[in-house]
Amino acid sequence: MNAQRCSLAQFLLFSGLILFMVSPLSADTIQHLRAARVLDVETGNMLKDQVIRIVDDRIESIQPADQSRLEQLLDLGDVTVLPGLIDAHVHLIGDANAQGYGNLAASLPRNTLYGVKNARDTLAAGFTAVRNVGAGGYADVALRDAINAGDVPGPRMRVSGPSLGITGGHCDNNLLPPEANQYSAGVADGADEIIKVLRRNKKYGADVVKFCATGGVLSKGTSVGEQQYTDEEMKAIVDESHRRGLKVAAHAHGTQGIIAAIKAGVDSVEHASLIDDEGIRLAAEYGTTLVMDIFVSDYILQGGEAAGFLPESLAKERMVGAAQRESFRRAHSAGVNLAFGTDAGVYPHGKNAQQFSYMVKYGMSELEAIQAATVKGAELLAMDGVGTLAPGSYADLVAVSGDPLEDIRTMERPVFVMKGGEIYRSELDQ
Ligand SMILES: [Zn+2]
Repeated sequence: MNAQRCSLAQFLLFSGLILFMVSPLSADTIQHLRAARVLDVETGNMLKDQVIRIVDDRIESIQPADQSRLEQLLDLGDVTVLPGLIDAHVHLIGDANAQGYGNLAASLPRNTLYGVKNARDTLAAGFTAVRNVGAGGYADVALRDAINAGDVPGPRMRVSGPSLGITGGHCDNNLLPPEANQYSAGVADGADEIIKVLRRNKKYGADVVKFCATGGVLSKGTSVGEQQYTDEEMKAIVDESHRRGLKVAAHAHGTQGIIAAIKAGVDSVEHASLIDDEGIRLAAEYGTTLVMDIFVSDYILQGGEAAGFLPESLAKERMVGAAQRESFRRAHSAGVNLAFGTDAGVYPHGKNAQQFSYMVKYGMSELEAIQAATVKGAELLAMDGVGTLAPGSYADLVAVSGDPLEDIRTMERPVFVMKGGEIYRSELDQ
């Protein structure tokens, strides 16, 4: 079903959300949005009573509203407008409600179709760009391309294809017995296999690299503290990726694996749960971004059993969840680069913004938490025209009622979402 070609009533029925899309824009479509407040996320300045002029999919100007009558004016009312949000760690492909052995049953096409729904839910929550770190069968590439073609609604995507990992490691699938001969597509041991898999990922459309440096919470039979790839293997991944123009994200919970990944030159460390003072010092020195998913732990511990997580995963989460939040606090006070990333897909998509209040609770100002999901995210994704509202940038924006610098939880309830000049959510009072 093509959302852009069905009637509004059909689409509302289909989506189950107060969500709609305008028809595709023709050349030189001009829109004006008026808002009580526009947040400059770089400076923290709250601009009052502004008009944003949008031509096609880009912002042309942001200026104080005057009394002149404007054509195509949509008054958003008493809201704060911010740049569209960026989640640097999501898993759009698959069903978030089927974990552990429960996720073995779905086919790749079925998981891809879950991805279509998940992309729509993510966009409706105000996230107009994401980095998808790990997907089988290049389903993430297909989803990105379908969104870019306008076939289905969703955020702008950076995609990794299959994550690289050692045989039996966190990025392998260890659920089935040997006779099933099951392993994940990104399994690669030693530099030669690593380079082969990286080149295959690039060939089939990946634009970022994800690998597993240590064990993880949700995999069977891995220890979160254990380094999996050797220092030399990590160096091989980073060197080949950077040579090919791809940034590298390393999944790492354990102290030594984090240090090895930073020294190998990765662009981001995901989770970073058990990072020590040396890891924090190195991250600052190397300019490594940490993407710490400090909301998801509460979801796993509260809803994890019903969702099907393995008992060993729940035990591991109890071990690393609290430690990760203290690590976040220490990394933040040391001035390390922190980008917003939530591991959506472990919890149901669309709740991404619930992480903001955790980031504030563990040391960030409201503005810093918003910057992590805008300017810092845009830098890490190496995506132009997103993360700030400025002339020339994409008309990707979200509006919340109230002032998020006063109450960060207002970020959880967007009333208006636009991406590339098209409206994807509108719950305005008028
Ligand atoms: Zn993840």
